Amino acid sequence: MSSLAIIGAGPRGTGLLERIAANAAELLPADQRLHIHLVDPYPPGAGRIWRYRQSPLLRMNSMAEDVTMFTDHSSTVEGPLRPGPSLAEWAARTAEFAPYQPAADAGLRAELEALGPTDFPTRRVQSAYLDWVFRRALADLPARITVTVHQDTAIALEGGPDDPQTVHLASGATDLTVDQIVLTLGHLGSRPDEQHAATAEFAARHGRFHLPPAFSSEAELSGIAPGEQLILRGFGLAFVDLTALLTEGRGGRFETRGDRLVYHPSGREPVIHVGSRRGVPYHSKTGYRLQGPPAPLPRYFGPAAVEQLLARPGPLELRRDAWPLMAKEIGFGYYHELFHAHPERTAVPWPDFLAAYDRLDWYAPDLAALVATAVPDPADRLDFEQLDRPLTGLRFSSPEELQHHLRAYIRSDADRRADPAHSADLGAFLALLSLYGQLPRLLASGRLSARSTGTELDGWWQGFFSFLASGPPGFRLRELLALAEAGVVRFLGADLAVENDEASGTFVASSPSVPGHRVAATALIEAYLPRHALERTEDPLLAALHRAGELAEDVIADTGHVHRSGLLAVTPGEGAVLDPGLGGLPHPRRTALGPHTNGRSYAAFARPRTDAPAFRQNDATARALLRALSARHGRDDRMGAGLTTARS
Ligand SMILES: Cc1cc2nc3c(=O)[nH]c(=O)nc-3n(C[C@H](O)[C@H](O)[C@H](O)COP(=O)(O)OP(=O)(O)OC[C@H]3O[C@@H](n4cnc5c(N)ncnc54)[C@H](O)[C@@H]3O)c2cc1C
Repeated sequence: MSSLAIIGAGPRGTGLLERIAANAAELLPADQRLHIHLVDPYPPGAGRIWRYRQSPLLRMNSMAEDVTMFTDHSSTVEGPLRPGPSLAEWAARTAEFAPYQPAADAGLRAELEALGPTDFPTRRVQSAYLDWVFRRALADLPARITVTVHQDTAIALEGGPDDPQTVHLASGATDLTVDQIVLTLGHLGSRPDEQHAATAEFAARHGRFHLPPAFSSEAELSGIAPGEQLILRGFGLAFVDLTALLTEGRGGRFETRGDRLVYHPSGREPVIHVGSRRGVPYHSKTGYRLQGPPAPLPRYFGPAAVEQLLARPGPLELRRDAWPLMAKEIGFGYYHELFHAHPERTAVPWPDFLAAYDRLDWYAPDLAALVATAVPDPADRLDFEQLDRPLTGLRFSSPEELQHHLRAYIRSDADRRADPAHSADLGAFLALLSLYGQLPRLLASGRLSARSTGTELDGWWQGFFSFLASGPPGFRLRELLALAEAGVVRFLGADLAVENDEASGTFVASSPSVPGHRVAATALIEAYLPRHALERTEDPLLAALHRAGELAEDVIADTGHVHRSGLLAVTPGEGAVLDPGLGGLPHPRRTALGPHTNGRSYAAFARPRTDAPAFRQNDATARALLRALSARHGRDDRMGAGLTTARS
């Protein structure tokens, strides 16, 4: 009997199981049995991030119809396609999909019944879907593959490249000894870095509240008093979650009055002062579908373009070499939708525009001239620099002036994102996502310079992408507006600085957006997810392996720059763990997959019909595992046969 342990049974571990089920008939010999141990302290399927036990105020930032765990006709996986329902399809027809267990919670059942395809579900709804996906993956396994779920944490792993692997569990239960290991550990916390540790020490000394980067659903917020002045540093999804928990979660209530949303405080909310580098919230997700035909992507940043980039001599730079092509691709998605869905707002026929667009670089002055002629309204033109830093260069003479400006900005963004007349924004969004089909090839080549990988890819690009494409549902911006009008949320501005002021024992915020203005607060939250940092990881298994020198951080170094990504180094494609103890070679029995590795795929659920890279990764990994298991089985059989002969 062969054996495999999957450590981490969240969406990745579950997706991998689904691919093992799909590929087993082809790659696991008919006489070979396989036992899989799934280890996770949280329920399998949902795992930690999507577990059912979390506040119903926390939502997905994806529409129900945009989330799937199943391959479809667009998937270019090597293994067999196994179509299945998206979250929306599943929720609409749950009873059809065996093996379905009706949700025990009446509130959840009601939400499933009412869920529309373009709704942004609660995380608990996604939890129910993932639970079902897991059950289905189990049911799809051939009888010779069996599974044991261990509700436990893996804390150590032993085993050389030629040896079975032994997993030690936190509960002290019997060790698991298996042929192969996969680490699908997902999003991991890190101990505070020096700066956060110093702030925590300052807060403790002055009896102040401080929350370092954390998973919002797990944050302990009861130490923040009603009416307390609180600074939130960060304006992304963590801000949205934390604000929901600190307002509605404390008994406040939103009321729709005509076309306005009004917030009625409970009196238990703190006063939330929010700022960040940009000083504005992430753009919300659009709440509609494309109005024209989908753009045939990729056009400018496809496999051939990436190969051409790689053929250039010398190190590559993301912004200098790849970004102009990426920008042109996003522009293509944007203008394709504008010209097809809203031709009355364009001044030349699409084929003429495209013929000229094809020939020009994104930053060529002639391209700006072409767009100016073809798209008369400046509000219909795509300007990344303006989108990226909307407060740059703006100075306000008073905090009230800034509040007024931000409220108008948020109102206009919320209106635009809800209005299908601006569906070109969705065209741009889809083209942005399509870039993730090609980026892994560029990264795996190792040709991006260390500086560019650190400051441009992991820095600027990830931030810009999240700001544009990974924002909250539109209703969150309306809620933010209502909270700002109620005085519960106050805006601090761009390039936020927060000092620990020893004299007053408070956190003091300032921003060049309102020169000279300072806000003192007695509580501070770093409102963003913990950054993966292998050296400071809170995961006991990774920490143990790191201490033992059996895994390596992905560090990119070249002349003049060293970039420490904090991620676990694995081989491209199949994700074999690189083991310094083996001279940096892949450990043949250990694989890792997901956001804690330098596989760096787009960390979100797959969208239907987009040939999602995550499925390709899962499929390649499942196939490599099955091949390794069957090769070892063949060898063991031959050795077993040899032994029998020798004895007889
Ligand atoms: C807060 C948050 C919200 C998100 N919202 C969205 C969204 O709305 N839409 C979208 O498309 N994407 C979203 N994403 C992104 C995407 O859904 C996640 O990336 C997804 O959860 C990744 O799945 P995973 O299995 O790789 O990681 P996880 O979901 O983190 O699962 C990993 C599992 O490994 C387990 N584990 C870790 N260490 C051990 C150990 N030592 N022993 C045993 N088990 C272990 C954990 O308990 C966990 O259950 C979100 C991500 C986060 C963090």
